[in-house]
Amino acid sequence: MRQTVRLVPVMMMTVSAIVSISGPATVAGLTCPSESGCNRPRFKHSTLTIAPYAAVGSNEITYRESENFPSNLKQSVETGIDMAQKLLGKVSGVSVFLYESQSSTAQDASAYTDIDSAWCEATRSEITGYCSNDSTNREKAMEGENNVYASHRDACQSDCGKGAVGAVPMVITSGFANKEDGTYYDDVENQMTTFAIHEYTHAFQMHWGKHIPTWLMEGGAVFLEAVFSNDNSRAPRETFSGYFNSHILKKVRDIYSDQTNFANWLTKFGSDRKCGDSDPHPPPNIMPNEDVGAAGYYNVGALAVAFAINKANANYTANGGRTFIDFWTSTVARKGFWHSIDVVDNDYVFDDMVHWPSEVPEGKGWKKALCDFTGYATVEAFYADFEEFVAPNGEVKSAIDLAAILESDDSVDSLRSEFINAAATTSPNACEAAPPPPPGLLSVGSAATFLPLNTVFSLLLLFLGGFLVF
Ligand SMILES: [Zn+2]
Repeated sequence: MRQTVRLVPVMMMTVSAIVSISGPATVAGLTCPSESGCNRPRFKHSTLTIAPYAAVGSNEITYRESENFPSNLKQSVETGIDMAQKLLGKVSGVSVFLYESQSSTAQDASAYTDIDSAWCEATRSEITGYCSNDSTNREKAMEGENNVYASHRDACQSDCGKGAVGAVPMVITSGFANKEDGTYYDDVENQMTTFAIHEYTHAFQMHWGKHIPTWLMEGGAVFLEAVFSNDNSRAPRETFSGYFNSHILKKVRDIYSDQTNFANWLTKFGSDRKCGDSDPHPPPNIMPNEDVGAAGYYNVGALAVAFAINKANANYTANGGRTFIDFWTSTVARKGFWHSIDVVDNDYVFDDMVHWPSEVPEGKGWKKALCDFTGYATVEAFYADFEEFVAPNGEVKSAIDLAAILESDDSVDSLRSEFINAAATTSPNACEAAPPPPPGLLSVGSAATFLPLNTVFSLLLLFLGGFLVF
């Protein structure tokens, strides 16, 4: 899907599947069946590893850039990656491809010769031998389009048709350059840092394969944008709640205010992998391909992540509560979310031609991890409670009421600083005893931390997820 250039900043960050030639592939003497377009659970596992941030020399990132990529923007990308690595650890196989934007009047394709061939090699599937050697990245860069996504490289596995994510090459184009004079917008350095945090989060998430639904992938990445928006190594800074107000909550309210199309958005689109406009989708066989609805993956998703942490905190009050640090980093069952996803015991079986990647059965995979973390009996119940929270009886709550579930700015800042300072010198995820099982279902509205808000909405609205490329 092609994008158009917009004159307002557009944050376009996605997890992308490589568009490659599909068809029977031969692996270790087996002939694999054809797959059903992008509606396929091919990423059952990953071979990605996560090393502690302090493990110097482990899982270091490779950077490649086109000839004239601005060094200050590369530095901004490195800043964002470094922030995210301190929280999430160092994911193996990450390579960052930096494409310089060009103005429409000064195009020079030769600047991309080396990076194009390096991109092809970085994405070459170990299963099919194909690489992503089309000219899309280069063309978008030359047209000044903003093109930012995390791709993947298939690792070779004998598990026919269910390849593993073996590496995560990502593209960051120095967008916003296509003002008429070819210069950059003032906040482009900050945008590069935000892009880097977002895409690196996807690399971390892909450690658990790609059975994760899009709202959790994109919402999780946007949530961490907010977490790091007030880090003291960047400017301009924005508080956690300020980021939610400026970039997330208005979109959530817009979506849920369209009750005709988007009532119960999370319930409706929660299992959608959003892999392309023309592809078949699971029941309900619809997708929110309008800008407003598609933005839900990013914005409803981010609020739903905050909601999960809020519920977990309430559910485990007697056990020390829960924070975003637990959600992202704890390796203890029922305390953390990501590290509790079971990718070893995948005893549920998908039919490649029928099922949807995120159609993990209740009680398995990410659904079990989410229920264990939040205390809900089922993900369906979690969704239902979220809908009731956002729009009780179809009446969408105010931004202030929605923000009431957020962890406080002070708490986010101090927890983040404390954790990343420690991560720089010590190994994260120390072993602890597992807490007792959750007591059971939660009631609606048990907010753990009330955050009074007096922040005025920013007049500059960044449209999250206006374009999705899969
Ligand atoms: Zn994304």
